[in-house]
Amino acid sequence: MILAFDFGGTKNTCALFTRNEQGAFHMENIARRASPPNPDYAYDYATMLELAHAVLRGRAPQAIGVSFGGPVRASEGLVVLSHHVAGWENVLLCEQLEREFQTHVVMDNDANVAALGETKFGAGRGCASVFYITVSTGVGGGWILNGEIYRGANELAGEIGHVVMDPNGPPCVCGRRGCVEQLACGPAIARTARAQLEKNPARGEILRGLLENDLAQVTARRVNQAARAGDELAREVMDNAARALGFALGNVICLMNPQRIILGGGVSNAGEQYFETVRAAARANVMPELREAVDIVPAALGDDAPLWGALALVT
Ligand SMILES: [Zn+2]
Repeated sequence: MILAFDFGGTKNTCALFTRNEQGAFHMENIARRASPPNPDYAYDYATMLELAHAVLRGRAPQAIGVSFGGPVRASEGLVVLSHHVAGWENVLLCEQLEREFQTHVVMDNDANVAALGETKFGAGRGCASVFYITVSTGVGGGWILNGEIYRGANELAGEIGHVVMDPNGPPCVCGRRGCVEQLACGPAIARTARAQLEKNPARGEILRGLLENDLAQVTARRVNQAARAGDELAREVMDNAARALGFALGNVICLMNPQRIILGGGVSNAGEQYFETVRAAARANVMPELREAVDIVPAALGDDAPLWGALALVT
């Protein structure tokens, strides 16, 4: 019986995994709660305990795996901070949960955990080396090498969101310019589309219609919807974001030659044309010998990837 926690920033989720008669794990029970505006550490922790007791129903877990949405030092069981929730600075979360549940606890950041979940149970099954990238409000990444998370010397490996693609590009939260995140994430797509609509009053008719002419309502989802309906301005914005991502993934392939790249997060639901543009850009940006090795697929586990990964952390 394994308990899995996903501290997601905007929502908290807890799942209980048990083995079926064939010995394979299945998700027996799941409890999820969206956070109110401005949650803090005390809220997150109390909520997670409540959800855990709801799925456990009086039983004791054999181990606990934790996915945390923010930088952690996995080897110390320490949360460094949360970018979305106040009060998480330097929390020894594993120690705390071990005292609470009297069992072994392992934690890692959400991108690493989702990478492990997709590799063991999702789109990367059977692959020894996988690079996982999630593209939604931000861009995160995780390496699986020989079936295990590769964390790097400072436990910061895989941060593809902050690989610089254009030193003169838009400013990034990390203090530099032109990071992958600022070219490819959902808010970047929305921001670019809005700027293009303001600059070109005669273009983007379908997108404007979807927004009922209120440009402040623009989101990546709407831009993609308009692109798929034939809006050329929206298509250009989506293609540019996909190309930036594809070039970055080409660099990843040149550097590490993973067996497969798995693309998760909201933008990964953008459809086949988006994926084809990502793949074409990656192929154009690798050495000729690696063109056939470009294998970029959508994630298979959706929002549940961190839970399956948390299970994999302790089994
Ligand atoms: Zn950055």
